[in-house]
Amino acid sequence: MSSIVNASIVRASTVDHASCGMRVRWGIGIVLLLALCVATSCAKPPTMRAGVATETITPTELPFWLSGYAARTSPAHEVRQQLFAKALAMEDAQGARSVIVTIDIIGIPRALRNAVAEDVERQFALPPSALLLNCSHTHSGPAVRENLEVLFSFDEQEKAKTARYREFLRQRIVAAVGGALAALAPAKLSYGEGEASFAINRRAQRFLDEDPTAKPISPVDRSVPVLRVERADGSLLAVLFGYACHNTTLTAEFNAVAGDYAGFAQEQLQQAYPGATALFLMLCGGDQNPHPRSKAELAPQHGKTLAGAVQAVLAKPASLEAVEGDIRGSLRFERLPFAPHARADFEAGRNHENIYQKRRAEWVLGRMDKGEDLSAVDYPVQVLRVGERFGLVGLGGEVVVDYGLNIKKAYPGLRLVVAGYTNDVMCYIPTKRVLAEGGYEADDSMMYYGQPGKFAPEVEDRLMGAVEATMRDAGFRGR
Ligand SMILES: [Zn+2]
Repeated sequence: MSSIVNASIVRASTVDHASCGMRVRWGIGIVLLLALCVATSCAKPPTMRAGVATETITPTELPFWLSGYAARTSPAHEVRQQLFAKALAMEDAQGARSVIVTIDIIGIPRALRNAVAEDVERQFALPPSALLLNCSHTHSGPAVRENLEVLFSFDEQEKAKTARYREFLRQRIVAAVGGALAALAPAKLSYGEGEASFAINRRAQRFLDEDPTAKPISPVDRSVPVLRVERADGSLLAVLFGYACHNTTLTAEFNAVAGDYAGFAQEQLQQAYPGATALFLMLCGGDQNPHPRSKAELAPQHGKTLAGAVQAVLAKPASLEAVEGDIRGSLRFERLPFAPHARADFEAGRNHENIYQKRRAEWVLGRMDKGEDLSAVDYPVQVLRVGERFGLVGLGGEVVVDYGLNIKKAYPGLRLVVAGYTNDVMCYIPTKRVLAEGGYEADDSMMYYGQPGKFAPEVEDRLMGAVEATMRDAGFRGR
């Protein structure tokens, strides 16, 4: 639209020889065009390109074991809601690309992430640093081995079935990436934030349950980041949104495939904006639960609340900030050390009366026998930057909310989205405070993840240092 206005101005300036009346008519024409331009908020044509693709990843070989709750004693026989892998590809004016994939599963194991990244690099020439895989952490999704391996004791038939699912999932994620890249077309990106209030700090709630007079530290992050992606004609192509809260509205007794509140929020947004793809990013919700929970109707209710927060942001396009400029992805791995542990403890653990302690001991000894380094986690930190101010920070594991809050606070001039559950979900990631307080996220949960024990206190400083370095790699200036 702006090029038409420029052409009109050029043509108007070349009519000096024409009559005065002609000049007046040209002048009126320019004013009308400018007025029309303002009325339709036309701006320069898009400099970015974007594309989306969706692949269904619902397990087809039912019954199938769902993952996330130790209390489940049987596989799921029904599908309440389909599950998806959705890819959003972005490209800048120079042709640099990145792809964000959101996946309705409990967590992605490193080996699967690596296999996907290798395929994607080979088939589409997209480097691993530009590919971000985020999991919704739905507790009503399929088991994806070896994530939470200690929860299960599969027989050979079940192992073969889960192996087939993992291969299916790999192919579907790669297909989603390829589809999104193939669909790249001119697009405008913009960013805003809303708020939803159904997340609570579940650790603080547990402390209060034990002692109602306790005054626990209780951080929450109720912000709902929203990345709006519109086609050149102004229609909505995609909306990428996130929330820092476990997808655990549906508790263990609801043994059917579903995406929990995130699945319902995506569904609602896609119904509200036909032709658009809604992608949910799980943020740093390691210690956050939806409240209330444990009733089937609450998952669509929380989904509606979250979708409503996103719709409120989309309804005010003038309040959004344009996201455009150079795209750059960076990916680092940092060693997060465990507190010291001894092989003898796991030898003794083989005879533990708790079945999960026993399985963990066997799992850890198996890893030790294979020569794996169990002194630390090789931890992924990724940053995808678009332009000068927008960045998506992707952290591995079940990251507690303090990290999201602290990282955003450390870069006040930027519009940062900080996601956990990205590229590898190997265990919970506590802060120094959470480690000192103890409890499930600091200690007990490590058993289900087959990790040797809790982290050393330097986990927080190491992680924050890795974020700072990765931000620099991505082209953001220092804090
Ligand atoms: Zn969790």
